[in-house]
Parts: sequence; structure tokens; C-alpha cells
Amino acid sequence: MPGEKKKALIVVDVQNDFCPGGSLAVAHGDEVIAPVNQLIKEFLDRGEPVYKTRDWHPPQTNHFAAYGGVWPFHCVQNTEGAEFHPDLLDDPRITIISKGIDDTADGYSGFDGTNLAELLHEQGVQEIWVGGLATDYCVKETVIDGARKGFKVKALADTMRAVNVNPDDGAEAIEQMKSVGAEIVGDASRAASVT
Ligand SMILES: [Zn+2]
Repeated sequence: MPGEKKKALIVVDVQNDFCPGGSLAVAHGDEVIAPVNQLIKEFLDRGEPVYKTRDWHPPQTNHFAAYGGVWPFHCVQNTEGAEFHPDLLDDPRITIISKGIDDTADGYSGFDGTNLAELLHEQGVQEIWVGGLATDYCVKETVIDGARKGFKVKALADTMRAVNVNPDDGAEAIEQMKSVGAEIVGDASRAASVT
């Protein structure tokens, strides 16, 4: 369509360890899968690029509490916990972006230490739609980085859930996303809450 920006979908970290039963489970994290799958279908049907990011940590990293960080072990490379949730749509046209692979990197953002920005530029993408897990960490940082790198960003509130280490973290994350110019689409209260 004339004037329409070329867009890409970025699905953040819908991995076993972030879903109920995982080592760093986000409450109701698996509820994002149905709306995310719908979007993946729509993007692929239109021939638009789809990316899935994944936390892909080495067994020893400063990111884990055991080695000086704050998090329990999660998404260790080549373990079941690091696999995408089995219900998340898979398709050979989807590009996987691995992050947090360095033993000193948190890798919250899909742009941190990856070639995601380059790939998007190569494809002529101007607008990114972002959802996944979790609202207050990897989704937030991916949204903020995307906006800083000059992409128009839609944050898809119906496709995210928060960790809420502090009860207001999710709500604050939504505010921070807005403050960098991201457009919040859908029910922000759902994205911020743990219920
Ligand atoms: Zn991590």
C-alpha cells in the first residue's frame, strides 16, 4: 500500500523457562502464545518478516545469581528450558535471534549483541511490532532499543505479560515504552499485571 511502512514482527523469548513450569516462569506467560501465533500467521501470509528472539545463555554467566547476577538458571543453551514453547508456531521463514550468549551479557534486548538491526535494515523494515516475555525486561528493552535505533515501534500489550518483581514493574515498563515514543496497542493493564 502506498505510504505504508514495511513492518516486521518480533516475538520476544516465548521459551519454556519463561512459561508456567519453567525455571523463571512468568505468571500466565503461556497466554501470550495464542495471540502471538495469530500475528505470526498474518505476517507470514503477507510475506512480512517474523523474528523470534531467545535467551541463549552459557551455563556460567554473570547473569545468573550463582555467578554474581540476579536470576536463577534459565534458558541455558541446548537445554529444554531454552527451547521455544512447543505451542509457539514454527516456520522455516522465521528468523531466530539468540541473545545473552556472552558470559558477561544480560541480553535483555533483542538488539543487544545481535545482528537484528542490520537484518531489519537489509529488509527495508521501518516499523517493528513487539510482543512476548516479559513486559518488564526483554520486551521493554527490545522496544526501547528499537525506538532508539529509529524504528517506529508498536508494543503489543495483548501479547505480553510481566514478571513484576516489584508490583508496579509492568506498569512502569509500559510508561517507559511510551516515553521513547512506542505506541502501546491493546490492553496495557493486562501487559502490566500478573493476573
Ligand atoms: Zn536471561
